[in-house]
Amino acid sequence: MSIKLNTISKFADLKTTRSTWRHNNQTIALVPTMGALHEGHLSLVKLAHTVASKVIVSIFVNPKQFGQGEDLDEYPRDLNSDLGKLEEIGVDLVYAPDADQIYPHGFSTVISVTGISEGLCGASRPHFFGGVATVVTKLLLHCTPDIAIFGEKDYQQLLVIRRLVTDLDLPVDVMGGPIVRESDGLALSSRNIYLSKQDRQTAPMLHKALMSTRAQLLKGVSMHQVASQTTDQLIKAGFKLDYFELRDANTLAPMDQYGGQPARLLIATTLGRTRLIDNIAVIG
Ligand code: AMP
Repeated sequence: MSIKLNTISKFADLKTTRSTWRHNNQTIALVPTMGALHEGHLSLVKLAHTVASKVIVSIFVNPKQFGQGEDLDEYPRDLNSDLGKLEEIGVDLVYAPDADQIYPHGFSTVISVTGISEGLCGASRPHFFGGVATVVTKLLLHCTPDIAIFGEKDYQQLLVIRRLVTDLDLPVDVMGGPIVRESDGLALSSRNIYLSKQDRQTAPMLHKALMSTRAQLLKGVSMHQVASQTTDQLIKAGFKLDYFELRDANTLAPMDQYGGQPARLLIATTLGRTRLIDNIAVIG
């Protein structure tokens, strides 16, 4: 299939297109991704079309958010397949910057969002949110969107980006999109392809654990009463647990009991060699 999408790899070319759009009073929505696109990403693109007249999808595997020994080298990359999917649902521009457009020689800046990025994924992946905040800042400055859309799948990341945008007065609205799941409940992720056949069958237990725990929390049972039994089951099934926590949905402050205010139940595990994260809203 020949791809007709407008795909740009240089910041200078992006600036030209962006200026033309601005001149014509178009609004821009940006959906940042690392590629290996699936229906979760595409749902954000569809959302983008409903809120802006022009949609940019960025595809950039950001080395700064991978730690030593993580999966940067093997992270799935298939630009042609991604472009095919995007062409099918329609986007106005794909920004797939060359690495030197984001991190030119001598690049030395790290954007560090404190507080909300500490704990949860920030505890086990200390490099991660600095890398995310740095690349997202650059992508926002390059694309100058009116709206940037991120998935609730990476819930802590969404809040870190909201904090970043608020703190730096970046002129963009941040929108969250709901988690897209397989029919058995497993949240779609580019990393799911690493799962062995057997682990793929086990993986939906994560979502089930979230659902059953939420049901208990809504009945007034506390996290410390309900969590250990659930985590035992997950560990027996082969999961290595990183965290399983109830947090305030806006501040991520730790909670033990659901008390009526919006809360989020978040889990991170490794199954085989695959890190899986998931979360659900807890709202009465
Ligand atoms: P990634 O390519 O993994 O960096 O993800 C790019 C964007 O897609 C992020 O904002 C993710 O939160 C979002 N995303 C990833 N998986 C899903 C999913 N299953 N449902 C909705 N959004 C998702």
